[in-house]
Amino acid sequence: MTPAQVYFAPVRSKMKRSMITRAGALLERAGLKTAIAEGDLVAIKLHFGEQGNTGFVNPVFVREVVRRVKDVGGRPFLTDANTLYRGQRANAVDHLECALHNGFSYATIEAPLVIADGLDGRDAVDVPIGGRHFESVRIGSAAVYADAMIAVTHVKGHEATGFGGAIKNVGMGLGCRSAKQRMHADFKPEVTAEKCTACARCVKWCPVGAITIGPDRVARVDYEVCYGCGECVAACPYAAIATQWKTDANMLQEKIVEHVAGAVAGKGGKTLYLSFVTAVSPDCDCWSFSDAPIVPDIGVLASEDIVAIDQAAYDLVTAAVGLPGSRGEGMGSGADKFTAITGVDGARAMAYAEEYGLGTREYELITVE
Ligand code: SF4
Ligand code: SF4
Repeated sequence: MTPAQVYFAPVRSKMKRSMITRAGALLERAGLKTAIAEGDLVAIKLHFGEQGNTGFVNPVFVREVVRRVKDVGGRPFLTDANTLYRGQRANAVDHLECALHNGFSYATIEAPLVIADGLDGRDAVDVPIGGRHFESVRIGSAAVYADAMIAVTHVKGHEATGFGGAIKNVGMGLGCRSAKQRMHADFKPEVTAEKCTACARCVKWCPVGAITIGPDRVARVDYEVCYGCGECVAACPYAAIATQWKTDANMLQEKIVEHVAGAVAGKGGKTLYLSFVTAVSPDCDCWSFSDAPIVPDIGVLASEDIVAIDQAAYDLVTAAVGLPGSRGEGMGSGADKFTAITGVDGARAMAYAEEYGLGTREYELITVE
C-alpha cells in the first residue's frame, strides 16, 4: 500500500508563526478544499472535556478549523455523542453545559453545537458494516447525516485502550450510548487482593454500583452489574484493579474500529483528521483532572488517513523522552510509553483498522513550518 501523507507542525516554530494558523494550514495541506464542497454540513468531532479537565483541544484551535471550513463553503457544527459513564456528558443537556463551561460556545467558536445522539443517547442510526464483531453499529445520527467530518483529537493515554487517538475519538466517541455498552461488554476488571487497601475509591467511582468492599476488606466486582467502562482501573490509587487485557482490551479496540467504519461509511474522501500531540496525559480527558504530561509537547498532525495519523502520533510519543515528575519518568526515546503506563497494547486498534481497510500504518511525515 502507498504510504499515507501525514502533515506535521512541530510545536517549535522557527519562523515564530502561531500554532493556530499552522494547525489550520495543516488541514489545507491534508485536503480541506477537496473534502468539503459548497453547502456541506460538516461535523467537527470533538471531545469537549469534563469540568476540571484541561487536556482537551483548546477552543481557539477549533475556531480556526470552523473558520477554514466556512472559507471553503462548508457549514460546520461541533459534535460528540453522549457518554455511558456517570459524568457531565451522559445526556445532551449536561453535555452542552459541560461544553459551554469549557469554552465551546457559539460566541467563541462561531459554530453551533449538536449532540450527535440526541437528548438521551437514543437518536442513532444502524449502519451496516458486516464486521467481525458486529453486523451493524449504532452511530449518532448527526454524525451519520453530516456530509463530511473533521475529527479534532487530543492525543493521550487511555486506561482501557492504552492509547487515545483519532480512532478512539471517532469510534468510541460517535457510538451512541447503547453502542458504547456493546463495545465495553467484554471488558472485565479484576481486583488483586494483596494490593487492595479497601479505600473504597473505586466504589465511589463505579457508575453502576458494581463494586462493594467484602468482609475480607477487599473490593469485589459484581459482573452481573459491571458494564466494563474501565473507570475503576484508573480510579484505584494502588493499581489493585486490572483488566484481563490480553483478550478484553484487544476486543474492545477491535470493536471501536468497527464503529469507526460505521462513522465514516458513505463519507469517502470527505473525512479529515487533526490531532494534537500536546499535553499528552496518561489518562483520558473523561476524567475531571489532567495528570502531568508524560512527554514534552510535540506538535500537531493532519491527515486524511485515520490509521496513519494515529500511528504517527504513537511513534512521535515513543520517540520522545519521558518527562521527569510524570508517569513517563525514566522512559527514554524508543520506549512504548502508552503500553508501559497503561498495561494495554494501544497499537492493536491501528493494526485492526489497517486490516479492516480503514487506512495504512505506513506513512510519510511531512514537516510544515
Ligand atoms: S466495576 Fe469498574 S469497569 Fe465495571 S462498571 Fe464499575 S467502574 Fe466500570
Ligand atoms: S480503589 Fe483500589 S485499593 Fe481502593 S478499594 Fe478499590 S481496588 Fe481496593
